[in-house]
Amino acid sequence: MSNENLTPMMQQYMEIKKDYQEEVLFYRLGDFYEMFYDDALLASKVLGLTLTKRSNKQEDIPMCGVPYHVSDTYISKMLDAGYKVAIVDQVEDPKLTKNLVKRAVTKIITPGTFSDTDYLSVDNNFLLSYVDHGATLYLAYGDYTTGEIFTTSQTFLSQKEKSQFFMDELSRITPSEILYSSATMPAKDGIYYTHLNETLQKLLPEVRDVLNSDVVTSISKINSPALFMLINYLATTQKVSLQHLKAVHRYDPEEYMTIDETSKYNLELVASIQTRRKKGSLYAVLDNCETAMGSRTLRKWIEKPLRNKAAIISRQDMIKSALEDLMRFDAIRSALKQTLDIERLSFKIASEQLSPKDCVALATSLDQFTKVKSLLTASPDDVLHHFGEKIPDTTALSHLIQNTLISDPPVNLELPFIRKGYDKDLDELYQASEGGQALLLDLETKERKRTDIKTLKIKYNKILGYFIDVTKSFTDKVPEDYIRKQTLVGSERYFTVELKALERKINGSKERAIERQMEILTALRSTIFNALGTIQNVAEYIGTLDCLFSLAQVARTYHYVRPVISDTPQLTIVEGRHPIVEAMGRDIQFVPNNTSMNAETYFLLITGPNMAGKSTYMRQVALITLMAQMGSYVPATAFHWSLVDRIFTRIGASDNLAGGDSTFMVEMKEVANILDHATNASLILLDEVGRGTSTYDGIAIAWAITEYLVTTTKAKTLFATHYHELTQLSTSLSGLKNLSIAVDHDGDQIIFLRQVIEGASDRSYGIDVAKLAGINDAVIARAKIVLDEHENKGQSVHVDVPVQPTHNPVLPFLKNLSEVDINSLSPLESLNLLQKIVEGAKMNYDKYSG
Ligand code: ADP
Ligand code: MG
Repeated sequence: MSNENLTPMMQQYMEIKKDYQEEVLFYRLGDFYEMFYDDALLASKVLGLTLTKRSNKQEDIPMCGVPYHVSDTYISKMLDAGYKVAIVDQVEDPKLTKNLVKRAVTKIITPGTFSDTDYLSVDNNFLLSYVDHGATLYLAYGDYTTGEIFTTSQTFLSQKEKSQFFMDELSRITPSEILYSSATMPAKDGIYYTHLNETLQKLLPEVRDVLNSDVVTSISKINSPALFMLINYLATTQKVSLQHLKAVHRYDPEEYMTIDETSKYNLELVASIQTRRKKGSLYAVLDNCETAMGSRTLRKWIEKPLRNKAAIISRQDMIKSALEDLMRFDAIRSALKQTLDIERLSFKIASEQLSPKDCVALATSLDQFTKVKSLLTASPDDVLHHFGEKIPDTTALSHLIQNTLISDPPVNLELPFIRKGYDKDLDELYQASEGGQALLLDLETKERKRTDIKTLKIKYNKILGYFIDVTKSFTDKVPEDYIRKQTLVGSERYFTVELKALERKINGSKERAIERQMEILTALRSTIFNALGTIQNVAEYIGTLDCLFSLAQVARTYHYVRPVISDTPQLTIVEGRHPIVEAMGRDIQFVPNNTSMNAETYFLLITGPNMAGKSTYMRQVALITLMAQMGSYVPATAFHWSLVDRIFTRIGASDNLAGGDSTFMVEMKEVANILDHATNASLILLDEVGRGTSTYDGIAIAWAITEYLVTTTKAKTLFATHYHELTQLSTSLSGLKNLSIAVDHDGDQIIFLRQVIEGASDRSYGIDVAKLAGINDAVIARAKIVLDEHENKGQSVHVDVPVQPTHNPVLPFLKNLSEVDINSLSPLESLNLLQKIVEGAKMNYDKYSG
């Protein structure tokens, strides 16, 4: 449609829309945000709004709208559905122009920049940017609401390594939006991707002005294109001050224990596998935090366990001190409880948007933190005392706020919110406007007397202002000087000259009062803004304290113990428990188990029936280790360990069918990752590797992997398997030890004892478990006969597995090949077969060629 056919307002709309094609435009009209054309069609579908029409010169325009004061609900829905929103507001005072009011985009809202704290979860909402420069990968990520920014860069030898690293970082950070400028990008579901122009990889000159100068210095020094892109994007979308962005935290992934995506998922670190929610995860068990700042800190610690001995010990020290003075501990926790998420106020403080309610909440929270500070500094314990001293003092600020504002300010800024006695001018203006109310009452009495209309009332509404209301039956008594303004069914409404003069007086002082109190609020906001750095500091210390106290509280509830770092390689758990199973356990009594690994024995091969507790046992070892490296106490009676660089897991049948991989392919990819990256300081869990393929293949692969890990990698490994054949490896591989899980029998019923014992399991108990699961007697009886026959034949199920491991893997492979009927193969099948032959040959060649 050409522009001549549009009304001036729609021309303005088109002019703005032209630059915002990707966004849904929320265009402010009166009390609504309206959407037009395709945006309207889309929004009506996504938001369930009624589509209406706006009449135009020639043809009607599709339109729908949402009330501006509830727009956040609708914006969050648009974001959830995968769209961005651009807000178009009036940018000049309508009173000052006779023409169409100027409008412009005042903010672009994307999943990674959404800041409405009513709709965000407590967790960080991260925006991540990714720049791929040949061998080097630059990453930066930050949370707009809290002002945290992190960045790293890494150089890689291969594309595969690079994308592996990136996927691991993605799984740890879980950003809601990714910025990138390259042609392609490793993609992941559930994340919003924004492609940006490469020119944004330098800091835009105008962006310097909205940043704190220290931050400008730090980002210029780091000189990362990803960081520039992130900051430019925040500045150009938010269009407000970014003074709350904190100094950039540059990290080296080597400083932290790496937990790849599979392990994070399998160990249920932040979400349960079943529900994909926090409940049932390690995060849920450990999160007894009283503040959102504490919970966010805890989550970061879970996702980034430490590798630095001193840092771990310093966290342990705080937990220990906290638990030695429970009175103080409880007093501090209850002070923390009554506070607000002041960290997330920081972007509002920076853009000077704090409401009087926010200010008061900030002050009361700061008071609680001051109380926490004095409880800590009063402690005779050095660790607590020193921590308390580090928390900045904010008493003056909170007093200022409380002296300025009333204790429960209204949401509506036209109502009084400044404390009486704070400002003389304001008090006088309020007095005048309140005095006006008394004069109105006087006038009402006077008019009743004069007219002899007993029901006469002075009322007020927004359109007429003050008016005199006379019921129909008395209208004949109305004096001549009354000016009729409106006729309703039961009454007439009138003005008088005196009433309108009084109204002007009242409104005049009220308007000036509102202006004056806004001036005071503005001054207060800027005082608070000047204290932003201090407030952010307080928030950070409180987050750390609350997180540590949460860990202490959990340690207290579940009787955890302080672990001890060992300088010689070992992992020794006495009476370890699985923290999640234990915490969720309703009726079951959790059976604790020991674990012992060291430089001589580091590979534990675990056999035992299904449901015996193998997976639980392995996970508990990993979780205890991870918790210890977070600095937490652990569910055991003793734990001595040498620091672990990475945890790897290959657990269960995780299907990545959506990603196009078969179960077996997923399994092998995970194992390949382990073999490529594990070191002798890593902890590896392998659960049922080789299950996704035929028995012979499976055993062969499991066998070869075991040998490789024991002889070459020498990582601490727990391997649960139902391939009994593998237990023979203990005779040839000295680092390997067999474990099994004890079972007992009650008649022909199997009983799980949950006790891990040394030595291999005698058999696999598959039929016993099948019986327990309710498979009928006829089938069970028949299965026993078939099993007996096979076992008597000896070798057909228990594959030929010579004790000499070097001969073993090839045999099953060759056996499979020799059974192939070439004539029955389709072209595709033969290709697949060829692939298998080549892979098998490679595997064996690598092995025998050394
Ligand atoms: P497996 O891997 O051997 O098949 P799992 O580890 O999945 O067995 O455990 C089976 C069930 O036994 C789980 O429901 C778990 O809650 C319970 N369980 C495992 N270990 C213990 C234990 N030490 N104490 C109590 N219950 C346990
Ligand atoms: Mg299992």
